[in-house]
Amino acid sequence: MIQITMPLNFLGSVYREIRQALVDMAEMFDLLEQPAEVTDKPDAPDLEINGGAVELDQVEFGYEAARPILHGVSIRAGAGETIAIVGPSGSGKSTIGRLLFRFYDVTGGAIRIDGQDLRDVTQNSLHRAIGVVPQDTVLFNDSIRYNIAYGKEGATFAEIEAVAKAARIHDFVSSLPEGYDTQVGERGLKLSGGEKQRVGIARTLLKNPPILLLDEATSALDTETERDIQQSLKAMGVGRTVITIAHRLSTIADADRIVVLEDGVVREEGRHDELLALGGKYAAMWARQAAEEDDDGEAEANAVA
Ligand code: ADP
Ligand code: MG
Repeated sequence: MIQITMPLNFLGSVYREIRQALVDMAEMFDLLEQPAEVTDKPDAPDLEINGGAVELDQVEFGYEAARPILHGVSIRAGAGETIAIVGPSGSGKSTIGRLLFRFYDVTGGAIRIDGQDLRDVTQNSLHRAIGVVPQDTVLFNDSIRYNIAYGKEGATFAEIEAVAKAARIHDFVSSLPEGYDTQVGERGLKLSGGEKQRVGIARTLLKNPPILLLDEATSALDTETERDIQQSLKAMGVGRTVITIAHRLSTIADADRIVVLEDGVVREEGRHDELLALGGKYAAMWARQAAEEDDDGEAEANAVA
């Protein structure tokens, strides 16, 4: 039988690819959400990256026809730019991330990367081009080495160590008796939220994607850990196009452009200082968060301003 004579390493790579797709999905979605069926066009070419510019062009979308979520959303992230999307819960921010991954197709308008409509290229090449750091990094019940190596098939130990250093988790890992062979996850060492995010950052660095999607990547962390991780995220964004969905505005004040989304509509767009000067929704959100953080005895928002 063909199946039996197939080389094992081929099966291994198919298995890895399926697992990778599942992890990416699990990270993007709540695990329970069921993505709609999206298929490649026959003979679709791979996405060709040329800088990694992302363009949402008059995007319309709803999970159900009866309930539109995004209304004519246009957002442009030039190659190497960092664009932040902010707005109230339920405004459609994560939906934009899911559409960028093409877990669903837009119902109107288009999303393009370097001028290519997402619907015209293979999903595999699309998923290779985008790295995701979600709110909660999913860890496997396996070694730290395996959990980082997951970002790239056939990664060498030197590569793993290099990204762990860049993500600033190397010193912690080295201090463990079993180092990179330490078992983590449900059945192993429980990592803190910050440590898990660092493993996720290392994994994404190893994947080395031209485009990064950060969906509230630090919102589950305390303020101090968040500030610490923020530096690793910023370093990771150098030379890549970054779309960051932010909860705490203090983390995105230096973005090239901030888009304020509300009820699936872009309400405001500009740099932090421009939006403050505008005195609109962003300025109000900023003032509110600064006041809240002062209430908590923290002044992070003010420190960044
Ligand atoms: P945000 O990330 O800004 O908080 P989301 O993009 O997650 O908002 O959600 C936008 C809207 O879409 C919300 O009203 C949410 O309830 C709805 N929504 C999200 N996911 C689904 C889904 N899988 N099926 C139906 N509605 C959904
Ligand atoms: Mg969200």
